[in-house]
Amino acid sequence: MTTTSESDLIADALSHLPDIAAIRRRIHRHPEQGLHLPETQETIAEELRRLGLEARFGTNLSSVTTVIGADRPGRTIVLRADMDALPLHEDTGLDFTSEIDGSMHACGHDTHVAMLLGAARLLVDRVDELPGPVLLMFQPGEEGYAGARVMLEEGLLDGLDPATTRGFAIHISAEYPTGEVHLRPGPLLASADNVFITVKGSGGHASQPALAIDPIPIAAEIILAFQSAVTRRIDVFDPAVFTIAHLTAGSTHNIIPPTARLEGTFRTLSDERRAAMPPLITRVVEGVCAAHGATAEIEFRPVYPTTINDARVFHLVHQIATGLVGEDDVTTMRDPIMGAEDWSFVLQNIPGVMAFLGSRPRENPLEGWAQNHSNLVVFDEDAMPIGAALYAKVALELV
Ligand SMILES: [Zn+2]
Ligand SMILES: [Zn+2]
Repeated sequence: MTTTSESDLIADALSHLPDIAAIRRRIHRHPEQGLHLPETQETIAEELRRLGLEARFGTNLSSVTTVIGADRPGRTIVLRADMDALPLHEDTGLDFTSEIDGSMHACGHDTHVAMLLGAARLLVDRVDELPGPVLLMFQPGEEGYAGARVMLEEGLLDGLDPATTRGFAIHISAEYPTGEVHLRPGPLLASADNVFITVKGSGGHASQPALAIDPIPIAAEIILAFQSAVTRRIDVFDPAVFTIAHLTAGSTHNIIPPTARLEGTFRTLSDERRAAMPPLITRVVEGVCAAHGATAEIEFRPVYPTTINDARVFHLVHQIATGLVGEDDVTTMRDPIMGAEDWSFVLQNIPGVMAFLGSRPRENPLEGWAQNHSNLVVFDEDAMPIGAALYAKVALELV
């Protein structure tokens, strides 16, 4: 059996660009946040039905799934696009700028949806070439709502053999030049956990600290002790980033407050390091508090696990991407990124990969170019046919 050549696939994807871009712009104008994105869901469903595909909706979130080539004999591949926007005001001045104040597709998830719908077009035309079924996963709530986990709970992978099923996701990036594909084996993105600490002393007059237990110097000491803990207690080859990003205490200049509050986040690249962080943080907080007669309440809120690219799937996707865009435009990243992604939940169940797709016009230098999550970020739509072709080619080739 012959499969579509790379150049045919790219040419075909390019011919779909006006339609793909129109879908992207429609979603961009009406960015929806969180787990419930009814307009975005309907836009996706409309396009899938137009292609003769059934659109299945989630129960507790507005996800959409569909299968192309359900009766193909081989393993299933899951192709994922997240759908949600971010809570910020758009200042790009694009003529399809957000029409909803305080909401913007600043992470490019609108392009993900459009690219995956583009891939659906390419795959529907080549269903007989598919080595196995393709499950399209349109997912709300990536930006902190763990939409992927909800989709898993609602049976995303039910009936699929985890040993043979594979996953592939693209994330657009304003950092890399348009059309470049960047990926790495092993950890790609960090885990994320949030930490909330309340130091409990006792309040009093600012002139009489000996009659109070002042939580402010204790909080300061805890923050400094964390710096030593991270550099002295953590193996540099299995790192963690730990930042206290929010500190509040007191009401005015002459009152010792009863409590101080610290909020932060830690990021790691392995399950082992992630599991070791809460005991370390707890020990430091309780130790410093005990030294000064204070106590503390500590709360850990897990966000996302580490996103780990399967080494074998990485190798295959790297080859496929190289065939598509050429050797010079595929980069094996030296380092992971300490941001986090809920695609990680899917990759805990099946081997797979996430790859970054560049969308910074090549004539623009990186310095000063607005990045993902910026109110000024503009993603180059010329990356979209490449993304659509990459999704499709991975589905056609990955065995
Ligand atoms: Zn984001
Ligand atoms: Zn994102």
